[in-house]
Formats: sequence, structure tokens, C-alpha cells
Amino acid sequence: MLPCLRALADLVLPVHCAGCGTGGEGMLCASCRRALSAARPRPAEPVPRPAGMPQTAALGPYSGTLRSVLLEYKERGRHPIAGLLGERLAEAVVSALGPGVVAGVLVIPVPARAEAARRRHGDHMGRLARCAAAALRQRGIACRVAMPLRALPRRDSAGMTEMERRVAARDSFSVFPGAARAVNRAAAGGAVAILVDDIVTTGSTLAAAAATLRRAGVPIAGAAVLAVTRRWRSSRTVIV
Ligand SMILES: [Zn+2]
Repeated sequence: MLPCLRALADLVLPVHCAGCGTGGEGMLCASCRRALSAARPRPAEPVPRPAGMPQTAALGPYSGTLRSVLLEYKERGRHPIAGLLGERLAEAVVSALGPGVVAGVLVIPVPARAEAARRRHGDHMGRLARCAAAALRQRGIACRVAMPLRALPRRDSAGMTEMERRVAARDSFSVFPGAARAVNRAAAGGAVAILVDDIVTTGSTLAAAAATLRRAGVPIAGAAVLAVTRRWRSSRTVIV
């Protein structure tokens, strides 16, 4: 169904499940809710792994219920799903933090470029990060969202050499100096900075975001994402 027709249908029909599309009560049917809740985050890394990419915890492969729910949220503007996805992202953040006790957590979303945010019904990662931070606070973890990164307009990569593409990827973000200084002050007080994103394919975006922050003196302890594509393996077993 076309997104506009689906949105219209939601106004006059019972809300369809974001995972399987069946009609029902609320955002997810019981089966899809169970499937989403059953996913457990674990360390994962792309093959090959880009230099400088932080250690990353991922909830699961970009397939099945997780993929459908993410698409509904991100591409079809079903914002109320952010709460549920944010809770799952919080699980991935806990996995990225590891077993040690931390004084606090700064969740740093990888920002979308302005034109992508307009196309995707707003800043979907900022919204997810706020929901994840709220879920972490409910678990007793001092957490807030920091947004020191700005996505720069993408250059047309047609005709670029491999080296030029790598340089363009590296230069895809800049920092807001004031926000970066605030993160550094929090880190000096013991808070741990974790990058968060929704879907990761090659890892080059996470690597570029982490490198940009490191150049601004912001230490990144790790990254947490919801879904990884099939090119990924966990550090111990294949997760797809
Ligand atoms: Zn369902």
C-alpha cells in the first residue's frame, strides 16, 4: 500500500501492526511485539571493519520484524513507535557500556542531513535517542542526549576515485563547538559518550562520526545501533 494511502487507512481503520501489517490494536500485534522484545543486543562488526570505528553493539540483523518496524517509523512517519524502538536501543546502549559502573551516559545520535530529515518526517534519530535516554533513566542510569554533530551536505560522489570517496566520507560531519565542549565537561566528570544510530551497513558513517568527535577532543566509548545489514558478523558468531 502506498504510504499516503496507508496513513489515510490508519485514520479510518484500526491501526495496522508496524511489524506484519495486520489490523489490530495499537502499534504492534502480540506476535511482533514478542519478536522485537526477544532480540538481544550483542557486539557486532562489519566485514571489513573501517579504521576508527568504535566497538558497536547491535540489537539484530536488518530483517524480519525489526526491519518492518524501522521502515514504518523512519520512512512512513509513525512516530509513536519511537518509544518502543527507543527502549530496544537502550538495551543496545547497556550492551555497549559493558559490565562496569559508569557515572553517567551521554547518548549522541548520528545526525541526518537536513534534506533527509525533511524527507523522513523530522529528526528520527534525535527522537529515538531521547526515548532511549528516557528508558535508561528509568533503569536508574543517569543519561542525557547530546547533539554535538552536524551532518554536512553530501557531495556528489559520481566520478570520485576510491580515495576521494574515503575523504568525502571522513568529512561528512562537523561539530558544534559549544556542544562538544559541554560533552567534554561531562566526560571529564565521568560520563561515557555512546554514539547511537538506527541501521548500519559498512560502518563508515559511525567511523566518520567518531573520528570527527575525536578530532574535537570528545572521547567515544562505543556505539549502539538497532540493526545491522547482512554484511556483518558478531565478534563471536554470525548473527544473520
Ligand atoms: Zn504484527
